[in-house]
Amino acid sequence: MLDVRDITIIGGGPTGLFGAFYAGMRGASCRIIDTLPELGGQLTALYPEKYIYDVAGFPKILAKDLVKGLAEQALQFGAQVLLNQEVTGLTREAVEGEAMFVLDTPSGRHGTRTLLVAAGIGPFAPRRLGLTDEAQWLGHGLYDRVVHPEAFRGKRVLIVGGGDSAFDWAANLHGVAASVLQIHRSANFKAHTATVQQVQALSAARAMELRTFWEVQALHGAGSVEAATLVNTRTKALERVETDAVLALLGFISRLGAVASWGLAIEKDELLVNSAMETKRPGIYAAGDIVAYPGKLKLIATAVAEAAVAVNGAVKFIHPEAKFAPGHSSAMEHLFTQPAQPK
Ligand SMILES: Cc1cc2nc3c(=O)[nH]c(=O)nc-3n(C[C@H](O)[C@H](O)[C@H](O)COP(=O)(O)OP(=O)(O)OC[C@H]3O[C@@H](n4cnc5c(N)ncnc54)[C@H](O)[C@@H]3O)c2cc1C
Repeated sequence: MLDVRDITIIGGGPTGLFGAFYAGMRGASCRIIDTLPELGGQLTALYPEKYIYDVAGFPKILAKDLVKGLAEQALQFGAQVLLNQEVTGLTREAVEGEAMFVLDTPSGRHGTRTLLVAAGIGPFAPRRLGLTDEAQWLGHGLYDRVVHPEAFRGKRVLIVGGGDSAFDWAANLHGVAASVLQIHRSANFKAHTATVQQVQALSAARAMELRTFWEVQALHGAGSVEAATLVNTRTKALERVETDAVLALLGFISRLGAVASWGLAIEKDELLVNSAMETKRPGIYAAGDIVAYPGKLKLIATAVAEAAVAVNGAVKFIHPEAKFAPGHSSAMEHLFTQPAQPK
C-alpha cells in the first residue's frame, strides 16, 4: 500500500526545512526527500563553515548551526525524511479513490496530496575542469567544495575559478593553507567586488597569488594530486606547479532534473509561481532558489517566507474550509509542548 502524506517537499534545504515545520504547525503530515546524504541543501553541501549575517534574529551564525536549528524546528512534528533519494518521476493517480500525486524515487513510490518543490538549484552538479582523467583525481587531491577548511591546513592549494566560492575560499584559506594560488581563465570575475579587492590586495602583498588567463591542463601524482600543468589561455604557455590540493570552484550546472518534465511553467531553469507560490499545476507549489517572480531574491530570509506561504496554500488546497492564515505561533503553546507525534 502506498504511504500517503499531505505535503511532500522535494529538497531539504532551508526552504524545505521551514516548509516541514509549517506543515507540522498546521497539522499536515509531511515528508522531505533529498538527493544529498544530509539535510541543509547548499548550506551543508557548499558552505557549512561560513558565517551568515542576514538571517533574522542572528547577528551572525555558521551555516551548519543554522541547519541544526532549522532541522530541529522542522522535525519536531515527526516529518518523514528520505535522504539519498532523487525524485525522478511524478504522476497523478487515484489511490483508494482519492486523486493524488505519486512520486518515484529509487526507494519506491510515495503518495502525496500536495507537493512543494523546494529543489534549489536542482540536484547538485558541479561544473568540472574538463580533464579526461578527472574522475580519478576527485577526492584524491581534487575537490569541488570545501567542507572542512582545516583539511587544507599547511597545504599548497590551487584554487580554480572566478566566482564567489573561488574568491571566498581564496580569502578564507589564506593563513590556513601553506600557500594559495588562484587561477581564472579570464579577467572577468563573477564575485562580490569587496572579496575580489580583498584577494587582489593579498596578491599584491604576496600573501597569495591571483593569476588571470590560466587554466588547468593536466594533474599529476602517484595516487593523489602532487602537481598541475597550467596553460595560459592567451599565449598557450605551459607551467607546472607543485600543489597538494586543487579546488575546482567553477559553480554549478543548473539542471532541473525530473521537475522539468512535469508540465510546470519554466523560464531559465526556474519555476514560475504567483504570489501564493502556486505553480501552473493545482496542488503543486514551489519556493526558494528554484522559483522566479518579479522581485525575487535568492536568499534564505525570503525562501523561508515563501515556504510558509506555500504550505498555508497547500493546507487550504487539501482542506478548502481551512483558513489560509495560520494564526500566530505565539498563541499555539499547546502545539509546542507536546512530544513529537509520528505521522
Ligand atoms: C557560498 C554561498 C554562500 C551563501 N551565503 C548566503 C548568505 O549569506 N545569506 C543568504 O541568505 N543566502 C546565502 N546563500 C544562498 C542560500 O544558500 C540559498 O538561497 C538557499 O540555500 C536556498 O535554499 P533552498 O532550500 O531553496 O535550496 P537549496 O539549499 O539549494 O536546497 C535544495 C535541495 O533540494 C535537493 N534537490 C534538488 N532536486 C532534487 C530532486 N529531484 N530530488 C531530491 N532532492 C532534490 C538538493 O539536493 C538540495 O539539498 C549562499 C549560497 C552560496 C552558494
